[in-house]
Amino acid sequence: MGYNQIAGHEDVIGLLRLAMNRQRLAHGYIFEGVPGCGKRLVARELAKALLCEAGLDEGCGHCQSCLKFETQNHPDYLEVEPDGKSVKVEQIEALQSFVMVKPYSGARKVVVVDEAQTMTPSAQNRLLKMIEEPPSYATLIFVTAQADALLPTILSRCQIVSFSRLKPEVIESWLIQTHGVEAGIARIASNFADGSISRALMLATSEVFTQTRQDALDIIGALMRRDPLDGLLKLQKYGADKVLATSLIELMIIWYRDLSALWVDPNSIKIFSQDKRSELVDLLGRTQKSPWLDCLEILEQTARALDGNANTSLAMHAMALKIQEVIHDNSRRGPV
Ligand SMILES: [Zn+2]
Repeated sequence: MGYNQIAGHEDVIGLLRLAMNRQRLAHGYIFEGVPGCGKRLVARELAKALLCEAGLDEGCGHCQSCLKFETQNHPDYLEVEPDGKSVKVEQIEALQSFVMVKPYSGARKVVVVDEAQTMTPSAQNRLLKMIEEPPSYATLIFVTAQADALLPTILSRCQIVSFSRLKPEVIESWLIQTHGVEAGIARIASNFADGSISRALMLATSEVFTQTRQDALDIIGALMRRDPLDGLLKLQKYGADKVLATSLIELMIIWYRDLSALWVDPNSIKIFSQDKRSELVDLLGRTQKSPWLDCLEILEQTARALDGNANTSLAMHAMALKIQEVIHDNSRRGPV
């Protein structure tokens, strides 16, 4: 592992490298960004670099310190995470005892506190003295999705490093390159992940997500083939689960966008689902007009209705009937 295996965040990593090169490091950092964007990985890499014997701007990966770090066996590194739902005062007391003892093997000691926003008020209060007068060899890194949950005194004594939401393209290529995720799934999962690399990976490897994506396409196909019964049968299982129904609608929206793009240009490279191109082109052969915008409007209306507490089953049923109506009004009895 090294900075080069982390998806995105070149700006933050560049600043940390610069600080290492110039030996202008803070004693306290707050790494803030959306859940799952990779802040903790960067925090660990910074810790490894600080402890490394080679004195480079990142961990060399070969020295005794780096080897111990990578086997999670470094005596001068401590990682704290919530015990249950919060980081408790006893954990902060243990952290203090750890920091107050001089480094065992090198020149520094590093602590990473993950989910730092879960520190209880008394845990945060217990930290104050250490943050105000840290030992010269200590670096504390607080990793959090909500920096504003930390006491102002902690915020003012630490350098805040903001991690931006990862772009879907960055997540997409990371999924393909490091996890061998199939390209079509990678593109969709990365667009659903809201900037979170861990959510993208969870989606890309989730059977439910893959199945919902396929069901969305099957339902669209059934409605276009004038086989509404098949479509309605597939819809049934979504009628009982609003969250799943919402995902289905979002995935149907993506399919319709692809159909719309292919309608304009059958060779479009802008579609999400390159892996299903021929299936989509085949579906296009079943209509002679372009009902896609109307379909998208119906899906968006249904999503809003679900958001506003509509009955899921009824809303999904009505959606299917409306889509079918729009498609067949527009298709002028195209080839079946
Ligand atoms: Zn090293």
